Amino acid sequence: MTTPPVCNYEGSDYQSSFWDKGGREYEDRTEAIALKRLLPKSGHLLLELGAGAGRNTPRYLGFDRIILLDYSHTQLEQAQVRLGKSDRYVYVAADVYRLPFVSGLFDAATMIRTLHHMADAPKALGQVKNALGAGGVFILEFANKRNLKAIVRYLLGRQQWNPFRWEPVEFAKLNFDFHPKAVRSWLQDLGFTIEKTLTLSHFRVGFLKRIMPTSILVFLDSLFQWTGAWWQFTPSVFMRAKVARDITPYSHYSANVLSYFKCPDCGHSPLIEKKDHLECSHCRKKWGVKDGIFDFREPIAN
Ligand SMILES: [Zn+2]
Repeated sequence: MTTPPVCNYEGSDYQSSFWDKGGREYEDRTEAIALKRLLPKSGHLLLELGAGAGRNTPRYLGFDRIILLDYSHTQLEQAQVRLGKSDRYVYVAADVYRLPFVSGLFDAATMIRTLHHMADAPKALGQVKNALGAGGVFILEFANKRNLKAIVRYLLGRQQWNPFRWEPVEFAKLNFDFHPKAVRSWLQDLGFTIEKTLTLSHFRVGFLKRIMPTSILVFLDSLFQWTGAWWQFTPSVFMRAKVARDITPYSHYSANVLSYFKCPDCGHSPLIEKKDHLECSHCRKKWGVKDGIFDFREPIAN
């Protein structure tokens, strides 16, 4: 199975080193505000792509059930510890380029700090589009290559790549920044309508974060977020995109988790529930289920 390469956080202490001890309280709180502004008030099923250790998951308040998806099994284990095992949360290890969900399943999806790692962003976005039902809402965060710092560095000749060009820039292995116009055109080509754009992290500047109280920076950022409707020059951008009502049929909501899945290899559904795996009756591949985590990355060897 050939898919673009995947950035794997397996065994990573990302949650602890980057968020809990990394001085990222400002970024975390501004994201909470943006999510509040963009999330639908309620819904049945929300797909969280790149859920990691579940930092944002408790913020999806109005939804009956959240499907946490990540490529890293260990990140999902950390999320389980944080959120607990309950019917409200379903943990899925899978490749974003081969999502294991039936079409039109979700009424919302989020992808935050995740597109950043996609070598083939349009392909990943197409998978998300397919998983969303009619009227489904997609909240996407991406790293903006056309940010003020990159522009200044480029104009001073201290940076090779041109922040005004549309193609993604891979500034470190499997770390990509995107041009807002490129992201917008990918979403529109897939049939999404972009309803809102917010800009975040206006004050992601080391010395400001050191001298100013975080609460003040968060408050100022919350005011500036709305300017995203007119221009985007911050390192982080949030978009709220919607699937047109008449494109995809909305599949009937069911509380039965098994009904959500299809075989990521051949697309067949439903899968058959066995003792410690799900089996595809079409291609006979077996997908592991262990300690409450569905694993669709690689089939179990026969
Ligand atoms: Zn199959």
